[in-house]
Amino acid sequence: MAGPIEPEYRGARRRLVETLQDKGIKDLGVLRAIDMVPRHLFVPATVRHRAYEDSALPIGSGQTISQPYVHARAIEQLMLTGKEKVLEIGTGSGYQTALLSQLAAQVFSVERYRELLDKARPILQQADVRNVSLSLGDGTLGWREYAPYDAIIVSAGAPHVPPALEDQLAEGGRLLIPIGDKDEQMLAVFHKRGGRLERRDITAVRFVPLIGAGGWPG
Ligand code: SAH
Repeated sequence: MAGPIEPEYRGARRRLVETLQDKGIKDLGVLRAIDMVPRHLFVPATVRHRAYEDSALPIGSGQTISQPYVHARAIEQLMLTGKEKVLEIGTGSGYQTALLSQLAAQVFSVERYRELLDKARPILQQADVRNVSLSLGDGTLGWREYAPYDAIIVSAGAPHVPPALEDQLAEGGRLLIPIGDKDEQMLAVFHKRGGRLERRDITAVRFVPLIGAGGWPG
C-alpha cells in the first residue's frame, strides 16, 4: 500500500502493533497489515487523535469501527494466504476492508448504508487499495455474482448463519460471524467440509446488529 502514510502516525501505528502482539496476536500477515493500513484515514476527524488506540470508535450512522484487537483476532481465523476471494458483510468505515485487501487476492464488500459506503470509497482510493469491490445492499443475501468465496467475514451480529452466505461459501472455506442476541454474541468460525458447516467458537463479542432478510428485522 503506497499512498499518503504520514510519518507522524507511523510510530503510533507501530506501538499499536506491539500492543496487539502483547495481547497474543501472532499472525505476521495480520500484524503487517495493521502496520500498513492508515487507520486514521478511516475514523472521523473528531476522534482521529485516538485512531491508534486499541479501542472501538464511532463512525457515524450509529455504527462503530471495531477495536483493532477484535479485527486482528477475527481475521487471523480466516488463515488467508493471499490467494483468496473474500466476501465482507458490513463495510462500515472500510478499515477492515483495507486490512483484508492486504491479505487476500480480491475483496468484495457489502454495506447497507449508502452514507457509509460513500465515505469509505474515496478513503480506500486514497489509501491506494485496488483489489476491492463495494456494493450497496443487504449483505445477508451475499453477493451471488462472484460466489463462491474462500472466506466470508460478517462484521455485525446475527441470530444465525444467513442461508445465502452458507450457500456462497466454497468447499473448504471459512465463514466468520458473531452469533447470538442483539447485545452480545459469540464470534464463531464455520469451516465448510463435505458441504456441511463445522463450528468453532472464538470469543464473546459485542457487534452492532446484522439487519436484513437473513438477519434481524430492521
Ligand atoms: N468492519 C467495519 C465495522 C462495521 S460495523 C469497520 O471496519 O469499520 C457493522 C457494519 O455492518 C455497519 O456499517 C452496518 O451498517 C453494517 N450492516 C449491518 N447489517 C448489514 C447488512 N445486512 N448488509 C450489509 N451491511 C450491514
